[in-house]
Amino acid sequence: MSLKIYNTLSREKEFFIPLIPDHVGMYVCGPTVYSNLHLGNCRTFISFDIIYRYLVYLGYKVRYVRNITDAGHLEGDQDEGDDKFSKLARLQKVEPMEIVQKYTLGFHHVMQLLNNLPPSIEPTATGHIVEQIEITKQIITNGYAYEVNGTIYFDVEKYNKAQPYGILTNRKMDDLLEGTRELGGQNEKRGRLDFALWIKAKPEHLMQWPSPWGMGFPGWHIECSAMSEKYLGKKFDIHGGGIDLAATHHTNEIAQSQACYHISPANFWMHTNMLTVNGIRMSKSLGNGFLPEELFTGNHPLLEKAYTPMTVRFFMLQTHYRSTLDFSNDALQASEKGLKRLWDAYEVLKQLEFGSELLAVDVELDAKVNKLINECDEFMNDDFNTAKVLGSMFELVPVINSIKEGLIPVAAISAETLSLLQQKFKIYLEDVFGLQKSTANNELLNGVMDLLIEIRKEAKAKRDFVTSDKIRDQLAETGINLKDERGGEMSWEVY
Ligand code: AMP
Ligand code: ZN
Repeated sequence: MSLKIYNTLSREKEFFIPLIPDHVGMYVCGPTVYSNLHLGNCRTFISFDIIYRYLVYLGYKVRYVRNITDAGHLEGDQDEGDDKFSKLARLQKVEPMEIVQKYTLGFHHVMQLLNNLPPSIEPTATGHIVEQIEITKQIITNGYAYEVNGTIYFDVEKYNKAQPYGILTNRKMDDLLEGTRELGGQNEKRGRLDFALWIKAKPEHLMQWPSPWGMGFPGWHIECSAMSEKYLGKKFDIHGGGIDLAATHHTNEIAQSQACYHISPANFWMHTNMLTVNGIRMSKSLGNGFLPEELFTGNHPLLEKAYTPMTVRFFMLQTHYRSTLDFSNDALQASEKGLKRLWDAYEVLKQLEFGSELLAVDVELDAKVNKLINECDEFMNDDFNTAKVLGSMFELVPVINSIKEGLIPVAAISAETLSLLQQKFKIYLEDVFGLQKSTANNELLNGVMDLLIEIRKEAKAKRDFVTSDKIRDQLAETGINLKDERGGEMSWEVY
């Protein structure tokens, strides 16, 4: 079985063959740390976390590089406006690096809550100014960039004569030009599509570095070319990010690498589709962004309740990464139920031991279970189709539940099949999908739960089942599973 990945560049699913056998180099564009991450950003990072985990599961030694953009991202997409960090720092009267520090920590915290593994290397733009200057110098030497008053622009028109500039999104120069504004009289650029590699800083600009062209700061696109080359080489296996980055940021990255090294940087370009709200892309600028914290606390006027980080993660997995995913209370509630169903089945599976009854294996059932198990890898190998893997796992749940309820004897499936089933549930739920049961380690919650369990026990003793059910059901709604154990004891866990 071989892995196939949809490549934005070829617009096809292609067999994945790494450049160096058994090794994978993967670069994913990270966050611009000038504000809180919204759930749309989380979708992209969860998708690549699953891709990373699956490549590791397949046995590859993966070097996963995900950068932090902490300088050089301007407000406008066409090199206009202020630098996002400097502007906020001025407004808040703090150092730009205080902004960077605050939101980098926040980003890491959310990644941890969502159980995303840290990348192998997390380089920052400010830590690689020298490398960015070096690439810029080389692009000028190669004749694809020009200087105007201390700012360096990439000459798109000239580049396009040698290489098709719009290759990643399959667009011709004329189409691309149509989408851009005319250059105003004041503009320094020669061509409308030219973009800055290095930007001259005004004296009051808070983040600036010396360069051969005077004091300035790097353009946004050059950082990813510099850092991917430094850690993964001039050519590496996978480059990823959200689909919104393909038309400009990634298109420019390809042009920069070609102009500098005469090589297209990545073999595979992978793009995640957008998380939407009522069909509209979730984004900071549109103001329709939900923060992860708002979900975890339920503290948002449009949310009916709180959802745990694992419910949010599971919600993302239920749709293939290249399809859009619409955010809604209903979908999240369905995910919460779905996740519980799978966890419960997994708990049952963990307890199952192969029956010693001398019963013949139900060949048909055994074959069905094997087929569903094998489909998991097949679906993942088909461009990481997590949604279909979950479909197969859900089909296995009734079989597991029937065994639990004694409707099917354990021995109806062979010992090998049972063992495979147990392994696959563990591999997919825990290792590949990165789902984990949160064991709340919180004194306050422990105290509250002790009290609720006490009240529920008293209610049960008085045969007040309305109250005892209410406690159990409402806890379930907030993501806490209260279980009745033998001897009237109760235990609980957080999903
Ligand atoms: P940013 O911090 O804006 O540079 O975005 C970080 C990552 O999140 C990029 O890969 C974006 O493409 C991605 N992203 C932004 N908005 C969304 C969205 N609504 N759905 C999925 N990914 C998104
Ligand atoms: Zn990037």
